Amino acid sequence: MTNSCKVHSPATIANLVCGFDILGMALHEPFDIMELVLLDEPKIIIRNKDNFNLPTDPEKNVAGVVLLSIMERMGNRIGFELEMEKHIKPGSGIGSSAASAAGAAVAANHLLGNIFSDHELVQFAMNGEKLASGVKHADNISPCILGGISLIRSIHPLDIVSITVPDLFVTVIHPQIEIKTSYARQILRQQVSLKDAIRQWGNIAGLVAGLLQNDPDLIGRSMEDVIIEPVRSILIPGFDELKIKTKEAGALGGGISGSGPSIFMLSKEKQTAIGVESVMKEVYDKIGIDYRTYVTTINKKGVEVIA
Ligand code: ADP
Repeated sequence: MTNSCKVHSPATIANLVCGFDILGMALHEPFDIMELVLLDEPKIIIRNKDNFNLPTDPEKNVAGVVLLSIMERMGNRIGFELEMEKHIKPGSGIGSSAASAAGAAVAANHLLGNIFSDHELVQFAMNGEKLASGVKHADNISPCILGGISLIRSIHPLDIVSITVPDLFVTVIHPQIEIKTSYARQILRQQVSLKDAIRQWGNIAGLVAGLLQNDPDLIGRSMEDVIIEPVRSILIPGFDELKIKTKEAGALGGGISGSGPSIFMLSKEKQTAIGVESVMKEVYDKIGIDYRTYVTTINKKGVEVIA
């Protein structure tokens, strides 16, 4: 058994427009790099190789919490030393905490001889998400581990469906503003009208069918959220203008990534995705808020052991 490994753990987009809390997708970029060493004594050491200053106390770091739960499952006979090089900015809305949690779970499993199923890895990694956001959710974790797009049909009991994904391009803009996930959740309405609910589940079914049938136009038509987006988009400057203009530039559709502030748009062609990036930049240059953009594709593998 090798006692060290290196993994790439990708960014993910949760709350896939109409699929709030139930649909998530993995991206090729950005990704975190994590190196894990198996120790023969029960302790967790964390070192940061980036400038995000995340806690190195295992109980306060998402990856540490996941490693502690695996250590406990192994009867406290082993431990881990982790070196994290994060490229996914914490609080960006593209699954920074999930990348740490999922990467730690997959790397630990690799070092232990792949004794845990994907399902168990999602369970371990969800302990980390609980630390980051206060609730156990799997719509970032699951695509991060499994790759592609995951449908979280249920959390209790955990029921995950992997959805075959077409080759689409994804453009992401991460405005450099902070939106607290807890606040973005707090402002949501607790009741929805039957009319909105019907429209939303029509869209979710349309989106899933569009993905399975590789029908980009159906995917585009179905990427409409009448429940969450109207409330949350108020927190993101330029959101409506950006969406209208990127669609005019040929994007199929898109919306808020996670709980924001990142916004993503899907395109059929790479050239369109690059054009969409230019439009996003124009909108944000005009507003005068710093940003970071990515033009990438859907990552079908999820966390990858590279050494
Ligand atoms: P994102 O949607 O980008 O994942 P979250 O709000 O879910 O952002 O998580 C970020 C929060 O979790 C921050 O408060 C951060 O300090 C905390 N955190 C703790 N450990 C980690 C970690 N290893 N990676 C990322 N965030 C972490």
